[in-house]
Amino acid sequence: MLQVAVLGATGSIGASALDVIARHPDRLRATVLAAGQNVDALVALCVQHRPRHAVIAAADGYIALKRGLANAGLDTVAHTGEDALDALVAGDTCDTVVAAIVGAAGLRSTLAAARTGKRLLLANKESLVLAGELLMRTAREAGATIVPVDSEHNAIFQCLPDSHAHAGLARLILTASGGPFRGRSRESLRDVTPEQAAAHPKWSMGLKISVDSATLMNKGLEVIEAHHLFDVGADRIDVLVHPQSLVHSLVEFVDGSTLAQLGLPDMRTALSVGFTWPERIASGVGGLDLLAQGGRLDFEAPDVGAFPCLRLAYDALRAGGTAPAVLNAANEVAVSAFLQRRMGFLAIPAVVEQTLSALPPVSAASLDVLGDADAQARRIAEQAVQHLVT
Ligand code: NAD
Ligand code: MG
Repeated sequence: MLQVAVLGATGSIGASALDVIARHPDRLRATVLAAGQNVDALVALCVQHRPRHAVIAAADGYIALKRGLANAGLDTVAHTGEDALDALVAGDTCDTVVAAIVGAAGLRSTLAAARTGKRLLLANKESLVLAGELLMRTAREAGATIVPVDSEHNAIFQCLPDSHAHAGLARLILTASGGPFRGRSRESLRDVTPEQAAAHPKWSMGLKISVDSATLMNKGLEVIEAHHLFDVGADRIDVLVHPQSLVHSLVEFVDGSTLAQLGLPDMRTALSVGFTWPERIASGVGGLDLLAQGGRLDFEAPDVGAFPCLRLAYDALRAGGTAPAVLNAANEVAVSAFLQRRMGFLAIPAVVEQTLSALPPVSAASLDVLGDADAQARRIAEQAVQHLVT
């Protein structure tokens, strides 16, 4: 029986993970559920999945969580705060951790899971962008298995599971849906709304990643993520827009072979791979009928003129050091300001670019240095947002 901690349980990945877990009561059990702020949603999940522990990040939600669990007649123990979360992730009530908190807020618990050598289903891509070297080194030293739960990286993982294949690896090709604004000119994006940006054509996801998909920053973050997960340089990671979102990524080898993983756009496949790899279990996702899907697979080059975030991410990866951490933090601030309607869509790349040029990269020697870069970038990005508004 795998005992699973689902961090970010009330989110989109959390729901998909719990769906797969519920399909396999003989093999998988959710023992820890953690969420940010939504106490009612967390209690409802506890009623359904009966975990041993529930954690709410917002301290003011603790009493309500405790009361909600008691009212529901559950013996699930309520917790709050990052220390409690770290202790549970590291403790013996779980051996598998689904890291699906959104943003840099997920770094601490992701690192805690890596440090204890557990199986880590890693959806929280921002932690790899912010502290990829540290996270990968920590996992390696502790013997933790990281299975990427981002559809592209999970596809590459499936095509490239053993380290022998790396010797013959030529390049990675990440596919991108192109988001809701694919084919649009930069000028036409000036007045798009958060609702339009969040309406992803193929995937149903949380708000932040949906906006990242619309700017192509998501693909940029994924290029950096792929660099760390598979130890491949920026020059050997390409991006190809594939509007049907059925080919999840490709791996090219030196002998001319290219392997791809295909499937319907549903994260339960990647999560199932993560839970039991190399064994495969049912995920609830049906097989792929290419004829029913329209009978064609299209590919085109990304338009970095209209979507400069992708270029900014490549630049940050090449610059190295703290640059990816700065990129990530500035993007989190910018996306949040856009969602609050404090600035327009085109200001997202502008804020990120201004923040990157204000903070030249330094060597990312420790978590403290990265934390400082993250905090400084948030301050500068916030100033850039205010400057744009006034
Ligand atoms: P979401 O917004 O739907 O859910 C985020 C979850 O994180 C929620 O449960 C929220 O309560 C929790 N959370 C937020 N701040 C927290 C904090 N400080 N402490 C504890 N919990 C906190 O987001 P999502 O779409 O599920 O994405 C989660 C992560 O997975 C992101 O990093 C995203 O990039 C990645 N990802 C998502 C998808 C997808 O299909 N949704 C695909 C690939 C990667
Ligand atoms: Mg992805």
